[in-house]
Amino acid sequence: MKCALVTGGSRGIGTIICVKMAEMGYYVLINYKGNKAEAEITLSKLKERGGNGQLLRFDVSAKDQVHEVLGAWIEKNQDKWIEVLVNNAGIKEDGLMIWMKDEQWDKVIKTNLDGFFYVTRQVLNSMLAKRFGRIINIVSLSGIKGLPGQTNYSAAKAGVIGATKALAQEVGRKGITVNAVAPGFIKTDMTRDLDEKELQALIPVKRFGLPEEVAYAVGFLASPEASYITAHVLSINGGLYS
Ligand code: NAP
Repeated sequence: MKCALVTGGSRGIGTIICVKMAEMGYYVLINYKGNKAEAEITLSKLKERGGNGQLLRFDVSAKDQVHEVLGAWIEKNQDKWIEVLVNNAGIKEDGLMIWMKDEQWDKVIKTNLDGFFYVTRQVLNSMLAKRFGRIINIVSLSGIKGLPGQTNYSAAKAGVIGATKALAQEVGRKGITVNAVAPGFIKTDMTRDLDEKELQALIPVKRFGLPEEVAYAVGFLASPEASYITAHVLSINGGLYS
């Protein structure tokens, strides 16, 4: 059985990516950190559309949890194979660098960058064995352009962009593509406190994006038709570059 693992699948962009993966015929592993109720809602959404999957709770930033939960799942489910990995789990903890506390820096780097490493390393082996895989990393405009108040988040996402390009070169000949999707402002819990009216003046299409618009791109990169696209960073930001 072919599976798609979506980290941070309980809310926001991750939920809609889970639904997209189910629509593409994948058994979906819905990872979340603590919000079981929301993760259950994601599962019921994809079941409503005829899909199937299960919840997989672990903190992507905790190496031992990734090993114990995801590693054990892979070990136990030899009949299932993670063909698509979407590294979507992410957090921000904004603040000007001059005021930034160690914890703010560490938490954001650990979740967004270390999380990518721990989860991808765990899944890579079976992709290499099957000589096929799709790895899609959700990064951010912040990691391309750098945004003031987000030195931690920009550094983490830029780190994932670098890792995307490096890993793509390591595994290209094994039939595995590695790409990144870089959203601008997307309507989710993460952007709930932002003033859309004020910010939309900066966005050429004059609105925030929808999780569906990100999930569509992820679906495309996961598709067999995208086999010659790798090491790419696809911006989904309504034209907002500067
Ligand atoms: P969100 O609505 O805040 O949802 C975050 C998701 O990540 C939740 O499912 C959460 O799980 C999960 N998560 C957080 N920390 C985790 C951890 N340590 N281990 C496992 N799961 C964890 O965020 P979003 O807006 O959908 O963002 C999704 C991704 O897109 C992130 O990587 C974010 O950086 C990126 N992004 C978002 C925007 C935007 O405008 N929204 C723009 C650019 C990039 P729980 O529910 O269990 O807490």
